Amino acid sequence: MLNKTNYSSYRKYLKAKEGQWEDLCRRCGGCCGAYDDPCKHLKSKADKTFFCTIYRNRLGERESVGGEIFDCVQVRKILHTHWRKDHLCVYKKIIKNPLSAKSAFKKS
Ligand code: SF4
Ligand code: SF4
Repeated sequence: MLNKTNYSSYRKYLKAKEGQWEDLCRRCGGCCGAYDDPCKHLKSKADKTFFCTIYRNRLGERESVGGEIFDCVQVRKILHTHWRKDHLCVYKKIIKNPLSAKSAFKKS
């Protein structure tokens, strides 16, 4: 059983792992509709990457520029679906080829 100190270390470990996983994202914006009908909260940057203006509070009902209502969910919940240019998604690449995860982590 985990004592308080171990539990705290374990939580820190999980948080760090989550951060590493999120850092893999290439910010291509595809999962937010960048190449189709983008979410109203998706914005582009000068370097042609994208960001979410409400990232910390993003989950829940959202609307696209074209007026479509959809649920914003964690990307892992939609990796089995398809969207335009989804070949750019680093997580989809890892699912197709788990061995690529090692090099993806090195690049991030
Ligand atoms: S709210 Fe969700 S779908 Fe909209 S830009 Fe943010 S992360 Fe993407
Ligand atoms: S499609 Fe994948 S790589 Fe692109 S922004 Fe979404 S999660 Fe990140």
